[in-house]
Amino acid sequence: MKSSSPSSYYRATAASYAPYAPLQGRAHARVAVVGGGFAGLNTALGLAERGVRDVVLLEREQVGFGASGRNGGFVFAGYSLGEQSLLDQLGEARAQVLFKLTTEAVGRIRQRITDYAINCDAVDEGVIWANWFRDPAVLRQRQQLLAEHYGVHWQWLPETELRARIRSERYHGGLYERDALHLHPLNYAIGLAASAAGKGVRVHENSGVRSLQREGLQWRLQTSQGELLADHVVLACGGYLAGLQRTIDRAILPIATYVMVTEPLGARLDECLHTRAAIYDSRFAFDYYRALPDTRLLWGGRISVLNRSPHGVQRLLTRDLLRVFPQLQGVRIDHAWSGLMSYARHQMPQIGGSDDGLWWAQAFGGHGLAPTCAAGELLAAAIAGGDDGWKRFADYGLGNTHRPFGYLAAQASYWWQQGRDCLKTRLEG
Ligand SMILES: Cc1cc2nc3c(=O)[nH]c(=O)nc-3n(C[C@H](O)[C@H](O)[C@H](O)COP(=O)(O)OP(=O)(O)OC[C@H]3O[C@@H](n4cnc5c(N)ncnc54)[C@H](O)[C@@H]3O)c2cc1C
Repeated sequence: MKSSSPSSYYRATAASYAPYAPLQGRAHARVAVVGGGFAGLNTALGLAERGVRDVVLLEREQVGFGASGRNGGFVFAGYSLGEQSLLDQLGEARAQVLFKLTTEAVGRIRQRITDYAINCDAVDEGVIWANWFRDPAVLRQRQQLLAEHYGVHWQWLPETELRARIRSERYHGGLYERDALHLHPLNYAIGLAASAAGKGVRVHENSGVRSLQREGLQWRLQTSQGELLADHVVLACGGYLAGLQRTIDRAILPIATYVMVTEPLGARLDECLHTRAAIYDSRFAFDYYRALPDTRLLWGGRISVLNRSPHGVQRLLTRDLLRVFPQLQGVRIDHAWSGLMSYARHQMPQIGGSDDGLWWAQAFGGHGLAPTCAAGELLAAAIAGGDDGWKRFADYGLGNTHRPFGYLAAQASYWWQQGRDCLKTRLEG
C-alpha cells in the first residue's frame, strides 16, 4: 500500500463539490437532521420531496464520512436480521410488510440515481450469494423461504455455472438476486446531499452537534460555531455515536468491518470474475467483493469490535482474498480502511419518535443501503404529514446494549459463529 495514498478508495475517487459551510450564528428550522450518512440524507431529501421547507442537516465531519461513505456498495433487499428470524418474530404478514419496504427502497434508489443524475458508478447487475459450504441445503432453504414467504425469487446457480462466473474452487453453487445493484457509496451520498440541497435543504458540514436540549416547545442544538432552534430533530448518527441522548446512544453497539482495494488488475481480473454482479458468501462473517470500473477488486469482510489500522486490515483481508483467488498471489493493495456499523441487540433498525418531536433512525448494521432509504421515507412521511408507518418498527425498540460489556458478548458470539462455520468447512473436507 502506498503510504501517501488516502486510505479509502472512495475518498480518493470522490466527486468534487464545494464544501458545505459550517453552521454559524443563531438559526431556526422546522426540522434539524443530525448526521450526514444515508439515514440523515434520505430523511432530509424525503422531507424536501414532500415540500417541507426549512430543513437543516448537520454533519460532524463531511457528508458520507461514516459507514455510508465506506461500505461495500451492495444495494439489496432485507435487513441485518435474517429473513427466517424476521418471519419467526413477526409472523408472515408483518414480516412481509417490513421486507417489502426494502425491495421498494432498492427501486427508489435506482430511481433517484436517474432522477437526480447521481454519478455513482451504479452497476445494475444483481448480487450473487455464493455457497461456501458443500451442503446445498443452505441455498435450497433460503431460496424456498424467500419464494414461499416473501414472494422473492433468487435464481439457482449450480456449481459449474457459478464457477463460470466466479473463477474459484472455493464455492459450491450460489443464488443470484437479480433485483440488486452496487455503487460507489460516497459519491451516492454526495449526490444525495446535492439533491437535497438543490431542493432547499441547508446542509452544514463540520457542524458536530455538541448538545441537544428541550427549550419550551422546541429543541436547541449547539455546535461549535452555531446554534439551531428546531421543532423536530432527527438523530441519524449510526455507529459514530452522537453522544446527545443517552437512551438513543446506548441502544447502539458500534461494530467494525473492513474493506480493501487492489491495484487495477487489467486482464488478471478475467482470471477471477466473469460477472458484473457483486458477490458475498454464505458464512456468518462473509467475504464481500465486486469489480470496480477501473478493473480493481474491492474486497471486504470480517466483523469485530476492534477498529484496525489500514495495514492490519490489509494483512487480514489479503489472507481472505487469497483463500478464494490464489491466482492473485502477489497482488498490490492500494487502499485499506475500516468502518463502523451500528447494531442493536435485536439486529433490526431502530426507527422511531417521541411526542416531543424527537426522532431517530439508527442500527442498520451491515445491511443499510436499502433500509436507510426506507427509514428516510418513513420519517419524512411522519414529520411532513403525520403518517404512522414508522410504527411498524415498534417491536424493535431502543434496548440497552450495555457498553462496554456488550462488546464482550458481541465478540464472543462472533467467535462462536465463526468457529461453527470453520468446523463445518473442515468437516466437509
Ligand atoms: C465497511 C462497511 C461495509 C458495509 N457494506 C454494506 C453494503 O455493501 N451494503 C449495505 O447495505 N450496507 C453496508 N454497510 C452498512 C451501511 O453502510 C450502514 O448501515 C449505513 O451506511 C448506515 O448509515 P447511517 O446514516 O445510519 O450511519 P453513518 O453512515 O455512519 O452516518 C452517521 C453520520 O453521523 C455523523 N455524526 C455522528 N455524531 C454526530 C453529531 N453529534 N453531530 C453531527 N453529525 C454526527 C457522523 O459523522 C456520520 O457521518 C457496510 C458498513 C460498513 C462500515
